[in-house]
Amino acid sequence: MDDLKQRAEALDLADPHRAWRDRFVIPDGLTYLDGNSLGMLPAHVPDRVADAVTRGWGQQLIRGWNAEGWMDLPRRIGDRIAPLIGAAAGSVICTDSTSINLAKVLQAALAMVPERPVVLSDTGNFPTDLYVAQGQLRGSGTLRTVAPDDVANAMTPDVGVLMLTQVDYRSGRLHDMADLTARARALGIVTIWDLAHSAGAMPVDLAGVGADFAVGCGYKYLNGGPGAPAFLYVRPGIQHRVNSSLTGWMGHAAPFAFDPDYRPADGIDRFRVGTPAILSMVALDAALDVWDGVDMAVVRTKSRALGDLFIDAVDRFAGQFELHLASPRESHRRGSQVSWHCPDGYAVMQALIDQGVIGDFREPDVIRFGFTPLCLSYVEVVRAAEVLGNILQHRTWDQPRFRTRSRVT
Ligand SMILES: *Cc1c(COP(=O)(O)O)cnc(C)c1O
Repeated sequence: MDDLKQRAEALDLADPHRAWRDRFVIPDGLTYLDGNSLGMLPAHVPDRVADAVTRGWGQQLIRGWNAEGWMDLPRRIGDRIAPLIGAAAGSVICTDSTSINLAKVLQAALAMVPERPVVLSDTGNFPTDLYVAQGQLRGSGTLRTVAPDDVANAMTPDVGVLMLTQVDYRSGRLHDMADLTARARALGIVTIWDLAHSAGAMPVDLAGVGADFAVGCGYKYLNGGPGAPAFLYVRPGIQHRVNSSLTGWMGHAAPFAFDPDYRPADGIDRFRVGTPAILSMVALDAALDVWDGVDMAVVRTKSRALGDLFIDAVDRFAGQFELHLASPRESHRRGSQVSWHCPDGYAVMQALIDQGVIGDFREPDVIRFGFTPLCLSYVEVVRAAEVLGNILQHRTWDQPRFRTRSRVT
């Protein structure tokens, strides 16, 4: 056990992002392995939000739309997210939720391939992605889901759109985005990537791989706060010829002309719909400051090392119990999370949370741990594995109070 702790201490000492921890509010005694569900609060965000409320809303009132630049926030934030996902300025807009953005880009993608109304996805995709596709395709197309490893072979001539999430929310398994996008392009298939578990967790190269559309989440690794606005990407080369299916006034070429007929704005702005949620946008905008001076390649290296160390530590402390790794063991095949199949996983996770180690539970039996490289230390993840081992050893989880399901798991 000492060698693991020594390895962790050495890694912490050598960590180029060690000082970044101080940029976040980290509750005392808490080891937070759930930044993939709700990212931590960057320490400077409360002041920025308070200022937007008291000065912006309270004093500026309607003048704030111009004086505070609120109207341009979706675009400005999009341009700040862009370098994190390998996108050019002007190709990302921050707006709505991931689910709504997916509905918009799915319709835009389908309109590009009217003769091929089959959408290909995988069975491990996040449920909202599948639900959105089911609703959008009702009566007009087909959603076809195959096992994640079969996606490449399932790109048959009737498939018009490939809709995938890069990192599997449950297992952390990583799709080969460059390879699948290249194959799709060669076959004339339009690609949509959901980056919910990628943006802020690893380098993404949307422009480099030639993806057509992408969506992603503001409240996970981008730390924008509960229900933060999401983002949407459209490849610059197609922006002029695709349209949003949700044609609201904020996506109009001239919203304040109050023209009765819709005319799309130039470029990515046409994917806006209604009035942006400014207080949430201000929080996300401020949260993005933590990425100043961050090299995503270094983030990825740390993320992989954290996951590897955690797997080794769980093998050490809990290896004798009935845990089966649900994630790829090789770090280059994983996103920034590790999960295990665990009998009574729900109760085990509640017992962990009770002892200050926060991960989460995903049906049917998965305990899941996310690694936010900028907030976490290596020593913490070894300690978290030790707590897990103790809970399994002493069956601490085997209590009625840990079995009561909450609405959010
Ligand atoms: C978290 C997540 C979402 C969330 O969608 P919302 O509209 O914000 O609720 C969507 N897709 C994937 C793959 C996710 O992981």
